[in-house]
Amino acid sequence: MKYHIKGDFDRDLIGLHNFQGGYCGITKVEDDTFNLCYLSLRAPLKKLGTVRNLEEKILLKNPFLRHIFNTATFVFDKPVVINEISFASKEPVSDHILMSGDAAGMITPLCGNGIAMAIHSADILSGQVHLFLSGKYSRNELEHWYSHLWNRNFGSRIRAGRQIQTLFGSSAASNLAVSLIKRSGLLSKWIMRQTHGEVFDG
Ligand SMILES: Cc1cc2nc3c(=O)[nH]c(=O)nc-3n(C[C@H](O)[C@H](O)[C@H](O)COP(=O)(O)OP(=O)(O)OC[C@H]3O[C@@H](n4cnc5c(N)ncnc54)[C@H](O)[C@@H]3O)c2cc1C
Repeated sequence: MKYHIKGDFDRDLIGLHNFQGGYCGITKVEDDTFNLCYLSLRAPLKKLGTVRNLEEKILLKNPFLRHIFNTATFVFDKPVVINEISFASKEPVSDHILMSGDAAGMITPLCGNGIAMAIHSADILSGQVHLFLSGKYSRNELEHWYSHLWNRNFGSRIRAGRQIQTLFGSSAASNLAVSLIKRSGLLSKWIMRQTHGEVFDG
């Protein structure tokens, strides 16, 4: 769910707030507007019936989110909603079809960088297709080498993202994770390294 909101919030901070079954980010965008976007499991929404109930009964239990929701001016009447987002494992080559971007594998939004990964995987794929079209690869080699390069660049990042995402959503696990990460700069840097690749300049 995504809203644009206005209010007296920190302009230099990307806020990330937990709630049961999900998490919510807030960040300054253009003009005087902030982007507020949250991701929730489907089950609580199904149980509570409406987005408003989900927000009132679950999100607003978090005092930071309560403050944001109660003091913000909402620019949209209703949130922009996308659903059925799946973080299930996918393959860079499926049924001989070459996949790039989210179609090959989606990193959890918590880790960020999905857009850069989509561009990067398209760059890798176009290089491999070029080798195939210029007769340097057979079709089998194209599929083999694209899978290999995709997995080398993104496989472990996507797996790490999926595991880190499971820490958020359960109160006990996320409270423990946040307190450990706050205390240990080394641990937070290590987590960043697991989900972010090397600089990519195409
Ligand atoms: C809630 C959320 C927050 C995110 N936040 C960030 C962020 O802050 N930073 C970041 O880098 N990434 C973020 N991401 C991830 C990022 O959006 C994706 O990784 C990225 O957009 C993937 O690009 P893509 O081109 O592979 O797929 P997409 O951007 O999904 O593009 C695929 C396009 O294909 C179209 N399409 C689908 N089927 C068909 C069809 N049959 N015929 C024609 N067209 C079709 C779709 O409509 C879509 O326009 C976020 C994702 C989510 C879900």
